[in-house]
Amino acid sequence: MTKVNCPTCQKAVEWAPENVHRPFCCKKCQLIDLGEWATESHSIPVKLGRQSDLHIDPEDIEDLLMQTPDNFFKE
Ligand SMILES: [Zn+2]
Repeated sequence: MTKVNCPTCQKAVEWAPENVHRPFCCKKCQLIDLGEWATESHSIPVKLGRQSDLHIDPEDIEDLLMQTPDNFFKE
């Protein structure tokens, strides 16, 4: 069975006809990738060497959490 890595979360995905979201592991990852592609292409011209920036960077998530108000996780 051929396997590929989900471009969004890097999870191993079976390249099978029944996997309608291939090469993504699920619809969510497919939408995330398509959304990022659309955002990137509209806001920033495609530059060589920026491919890795198309995916969510753990440091970006940390930055977002830092910007989140303290009461965000409370009722
Ligand atoms: Zn995935």
